[in-house]
Amino acid sequence: MSGPNSDYDPVEVTPLHADEVEAMRDAALAALAAADSLEALKQARIDHTGDRSPLALANREIGALPPQARKDAGMRVGQARKAVAAALAERQGVLEAEAEARMLVDEAVDVTLPTDRTPRGARHPITTVQEKVADIFVGMGWEVAEGPEVEAEWLNFDALNLGPDHPARTMQDTFWVSPASAARVLRTHTSPVQARTMLTRTPPIYVIAPGRVFRTDEMDATHSPVFHQVEGLAIDEGLSMAHLKGTLDHFAQAIYGEGMTTRFRPSYFPFTEPSAEMDLLCYVCHNEPGAVAQCRTCRGEGWVEWGGCGVVNPRVLIANGVDPQRYSGFAFGIGLDRTITGRYDIADLRDLFDGDIRFTEPFGVEI
Ligand SMILES: [Zn+2]
Repeated sequence: MSGPNSDYDPVEVTPLHADEVEAMRDAALAALAAADSLEALKQARIDHTGDRSPLALANREIGALPPQARKDAGMRVGQARKAVAAALAERQGVLEAEAEARMLVDEAVDVTLPTDRTPRGARHPITTVQEKVADIFVGMGWEVAEGPEVEAEWLNFDALNLGPDHPARTMQDTFWVSPASAARVLRTHTSPVQARTMLTRTPPIYVIAPGRVFRTDEMDATHSPVFHQVEGLAIDEGLSMAHLKGTLDHFAQAIYGEGMTTRFRPSYFPFTEPSAEMDLLCYVCHNEPGAVAQCRTCRGEGWVEWGGCGVVNPRVLIANGVDPQRYSGFAFGIGLDRTITGRYDIADLRDLFDGDIRFTEPFGVEI
């Protein structure tokens, strides 16, 4: 930059001649007009309006002019810079609008397109019911016990007072695991879990054992070689049939609602004495006069079969190392599959095992 001078010297101030300033302005306007993106415009702005741009440098030269020349030069440069600033603002507005319009097109979402979202599944009703049953008993202070599905013959039968001649041990009912000398079966009920619990724990014992069990039934609308049971076992001092009845009534009300109750019919099971078949008040007609006769669920009975139960046979206590003089207990078992098919009027048991999501979906996450 030139220092202040007292004499008018046209050579030194050539950059401030009118045609030079116009050339700078035109170059700046041409560069701004040529910028086809905000990025290019930014570069043109730095080149033509920045501190090192020709017009900025020319502006600084004004101070070095003799006083009589400053006014004209200042006006020329000022007008040129103003024109460039205006052109810059206008070009900036145009390019921003274009960028926004392009973004709206590029990022547009066609809400009418089909989605590729994977349909959400649902929990299987057997799982849901098993967990609900577990919740009810855990709420009463019981524990949930589990055992293996391939079980020792002794635990599946002998420990439960099912002697070697019992019909349930024949080849027709039981899946035996080869070799036969291994004496192992696919458990035919969840009762061996009770035996395992008694053998490893000291009373008081309050456990339920939900799980899969196996019998050599042909698969049809009402039978399956695989099904689900929940068994309960309580061993304590002074337990009686009354405690069993109270527990089951609470269980029934927790599953089916207020007013539900159970009914006992005398029966026989090797591991309980006395034993009872347990019926549930029909959850459709509630055995009410007028409704019960037409009820399809209980076929006019007013009650539906729910499972078996009884006071634990002292022979079972002895076989599992529990002193029958001091302790007594009760046990019960219900079939979960039948509970579900009855409750939801499912005609074909096989629907529970097909794994078809269209069947499980309506059950959602809660029964
Ligand atoms: Zn009914």
